Amino acid sequence: MKVQLTRLLVPVCFCAASVLAQNNQVNRAWNKPVEPYRIAGNIYYVGTNYLASFLFVTPEGNILLNSDYEESVPLIRASVEKLGFRFADTKFLLSSQAHNDHSAGNFLVRELTGARVLVMQGDDDIIANGGKGDFRFDGEISWKPCKVDRVLHDGDTVALGGTTLVAHHTPGHTKGCTTWTTTVQEGDRKLNVVIVGGTGINPGVRLVRNAKYPGIVEDYARTFRILRGLPCDLFLGAHGVYYDMDAKLARLRAGEKANPFIDERGYLEFIDRSERSYLEQLSKEKYATR
Ligand SMILES: [Zn+2]
Repeated sequence: MKVQLTRLLVPVCFCAASVLAQNNQVNRAWNKPVEPYRIAGNIYYVGTNYLASFLFVTPEGNILLNSDYEESVPLIRASVEKLGFRFADTKFLLSSQAHNDHSAGNFLVRELTGARVLVMQGDDDIIANGGKGDFRFDGEISWKPCKVDRVLHDGDTVALGGTTLVAHHTPGHTKGCTTWTTTVQEGDRKLNVVIVGGTGINPGVRLVRNAKYPGIVEDYARTFRILRGLPCDLFLGAHGVYYDMDAKLARLRAGEKANPFIDERGYLEFIDRSERSYLEQLSKEKYATR
């Protein structure tokens, strides 16, 4: 029953709902430490209870996906060190999306590690300007700007020490929202890994006649097509709730033999749920504007 309930959760990233406006724009309930753990192969979880950060460990240094809040960076660093790795070995910093709960810590990670910051076209200027220019949160939410060392485009790869990550441009939630894929060796199986960037529609975002983002309807539609086309064994995302992290982690910690994060069905259901919310909002808006 519990599983079904969590499955019903709408995968919206309430990245910056108005309740967060106070409190230094940080939702402290999302920034609690989590004991870090290995997910599969060389992929480790180093994020918070609600903000997913992943570490890809290679012999030539490590890749970090998502810095989260500035206030999350000390937690991420502690997690990396707890696993026995050096934070200073972070060579690349990647992002799922240019919202503050995923990217506000970029400047600090770059400062502490010297990592090169790689960001998808469309999100690059938002991260470089600390949130300025975002089609939804400009003027409401800002953070410390971070230099972008390389602007990525759809299909670009990031390779280090035998690990290759592919950047898929999956816009809508943000203009440069990025879904990352890679493969990982787990025992005798080679797994396709998908880390969803974000598919939710934030409160206050209009789809129809959005002057700040005229292509948003088509972008979301294309994103759902792209996601459906990605082969997925290991299902991950920018928020743990996308992929039922807490329940799966509990199963992992209970010693379940099959890796609980291998969940192709959960991935396809996630896309279905997300697309359904999008289509519902779209039809409501179309009806209202008729
Ligand atoms: Zn977001």
